[in-house]
Amino acid sequence: MTDLPPPPWRTRFAPAPTGYLHLGHAVNALYVWGLARAFGGRVVLRVEDHDRVRSRPRYEAALLDDLDWLGLEPDEGTTEGFRRGPLPLRQSDNVERYAAALARLDAAGLAYPCVCSRKQIEKRGGRRGGELHYPGTCRAAGVDPAATPQRRLHLERREVCFTDLRLGAQTQVPSEQCGDLLLRDRDGHWTYQLAVVVDDLEQGIEVVIRGEDLLASTGRQVQLAELLGRPAPPRFLHHPLVLADDGRKLSKSAGDTGIRELRAAGWSAARVLGEAAVRGGLLAAGRGAPPELAAGELGDLFRARYSGLGQL
Ligand SMILES: [Zn+2]
Repeated sequence: MTDLPPPPWRTRFAPAPTGYLHLGHAVNALYVWGLARAFGGRVVLRVEDHDRVRSRPRYEAALLDDLDWLGLEPDEGTTEGFRRGPLPLRQSDNVERYAAALARLDAAGLAYPCVCSRKQIEKRGGRRGGELHYPGTCRAAGVDPAATPQRRLHLERREVCFTDLRLGAQTQVPSEQCGDLLLRDRDGHWTYQLAVVVDDLEQGIEVVIRGEDLLASTGRQVQLAELLGRPAPPRFLHHPLVLADDGRKLSKSAGDTGIRELRAAGWSAARVLGEAAVRGGLLAAGRGAPPELAAGELGDLFRARYSGLGQL
């Protein structure tokens, strides 16, 4: 079983300002801050606004306000407007870093222009495990780079192995899942995968804590990080996913269990965190008063619960 790195290690809370925070984010935040506070980590706050179409300043302001209200203070990378804010860490502030990463991959002969639409990919490559599989149509087609900003990464076929801190050893073959990875789309927008891998590398993120729904895309991040020269991938921990009452995955647009709504309904911060802890499997739901958990108690909760990470 892989363990956490020696302290102080760095992890990140990385919400996208494309909607309001909900209990699913709060569960992720509990794991991020809980593990960091219990086992000597530092939390970097990164605003993942690589999606220039859907990101909104008002969502960013709201998520900073919600975090502040919850009592979850990042140690690094806070943006202006937050209570203590030395260091803006917003993806859109430094997009040239993504261009530099693409240039490196290009120079190594690993990136290539692609003119395929989603529709064409669906037709030619189909879906594997629910996601589009790009069959490599443009890899050797000699597409003129000036014809499109869209770029893909040639993913050599190989098994990618990594150890999840909670789920144990994992093996994935990214080339068989998504095929050659999209790095920049046809509108010139950087993709989530490229942006987070570059950010995690450049910001020295050693532990990535995220929901189980993202587990299938971890291998490709490990492979891309390696191609970008990262000597060892970050450690990963994928935590249980919070479902809405009817079993759907919570989404920002669903309007259910939004932190804003709970605040407006008079919930205290401790009650919101308590509810998130119950939904995330960290606290038992009691019969009496609703469970409450203050941000300052997170370190103790995780220390008591996970004396060794093998028990996660
Ligand atoms: Zn193509």
